[in-house]
Amino acid sequence: MGMKTPLICEIAKDTYCINEYGLDAVFLCIGSERALLIDTGTGTFDLKGTVERLTDKPYDVVLTHGHVDHAGGIDAFGHIYMHEKDMEMARNLTYEERLSYAVNLHANDTDQAFDFDEKQVRRWNHLPDMTAIDEGFVFDLGGRQLEVFYTPGHTEGSITLLDRKNRIHFSGDACNRNTLCMGGTIETLLQSALKIKALEPAFDRDYNGHIGWAGIPECLFQPADIRDAVIGICRSILDGSAQAEDTVFLGRAAKAVSAAGARVVYCP
Ligand SMILES: [Zn+2]
Repeated sequence: MGMKTPLICEIAKDTYCINEYGLDAVFLCIGSERALLIDTGTGTFDLKGTVERLTDKPYDVVLTHGHVDHAGGIDAFGHIYMHEKDMEMARNLTYEERLSYAVNLHANDTDQAFDFDEKQVRRWNHLPDMTAIDEGFVFDLGGRQLEVFYTPGHTEGSITLLDRKNRIHFSGDACNRNTLCMGGTIETLLQSALKIKALEPAFDRDYNGHIGWAGIPECLFQPADIRDAVIGICRSILDGSAQAEDTVFLGRAAKAVSAAGARVVYCP
């Protein structure tokens, strides 16, 4: 019998990771005046109620990008911030795409850590207002700020957020153990990974949008060497030295390169 609720971890003072049945991880940062919810998950549980149980402060909602597992819960909110280039993607997500994602991801939970039922994926009957943000935008929560960086490659409109005070970086899907290059070239992805790498003096911990992936019920930050591995893979693809294997990704022929514990998937 697995967990019937999302797994909530307090990863730092006033900072929560909410693991949505292994489908994705969303984050809540609380300042002295306001709070900020980073991503909305796939839309399988009452995230709004969960946020309002964790804080009584007014809060904003920001999306790291427009994919099903990050924008899938936007229907619960009145307003969101995100990069303009992913807005159309987020608005046009279908119930079938969100359901298919949830079913496929949950199939990887072989130990049944989470007792998740696909019937929990809800249909949307509302879309929030959207405000475009770009690099340099700052969410000031009172005594704590989250600064936006533009990091395309995974999608055209991917962003990350840096909390300098708490030395935490929230990277969405921009750079992780299994980086999917779906919104730009490998050169774009490399530049974004280098941008995140250059921020390393300002953070100790990086939380991506899939920590505690599938059936792994945990809330741990990702190792720093993953960024170096992704950078190395991108460079090897660009200089032609990479050993790429054929794979199929979203129904299309794609290439995958693995090295040093990371993998980059792309469509040449
Ligand atoms: Zn994504």
